[in-house]
Amino acid sequence: MSELSTMILDRIRDIPDYPKPGVMFKDITPLLADPVAMAAVVDELAGLRQVDKIVGIEARGFILAAPVAYRAGAGFVPVRKKGKLPAETLEESYDLEYGSATIEVHRDAFAPGDRVLIVDDVLATGGTAKAAVELVERAGGDVVGIAVLMELAFLKGRERLPGVELHSLVIV
Ligand code: 5GP
Repeated sequence: MSELSTMILDRIRDIPDYPKPGVMFKDITPLLADPVAMAAVVDELAGLRQVDKIVGIEARGFILAAPVAYRAGAGFVPVRKKGKLPAETLEESYDLEYGSATIEVHRDAFAPGDRVLIVDDVLATGGTAKAAVELVERAGGDVVGIAVLMELAFLKGRERLPGVELHSLVIV
């Protein structure tokens, strides 16, 4: 395992029964609080692909995507939960274990053919990432990859993203 992967793993802690009984939540706040580890993560993500826009997925994706965009010299675009973006939006819904969720992006967020990297903290079932890819493509962006800090392999999210380049800094 790389030095970076070890540094990330050491700073993500398991919180049992959050947000509900039976779920083991990966808490990234210790990583966020460590300036050396965060700088290494941001540098790594910023160097993955040459892009025009970095998309961050609300809410933890924002924390990573904004400094990555700055470091990469790219623009930052927020993908938010329904009802939070002020201008005209496109929306995409996806199924959760119980119910569904809807995410949105501004209709004019991308210039035609903008190369886009989508950033989030954790890939679990892949539902959020898949919806984000569809949303960005519908808005005219060209998704060149998805980057996450941590991929939970047992949930098989990667299988829901065929043909998408997925960069996981840590796979557990
Ligand atoms: P998915 O749609 O892949 O099932 O879930 C991924 C989304 O839910 C991401 O936006 C991520 O922030 C959040 N998420 C799901 N499980 C976890 C977890 O254990 N830890 C963190 N930090 N986020 C999670």
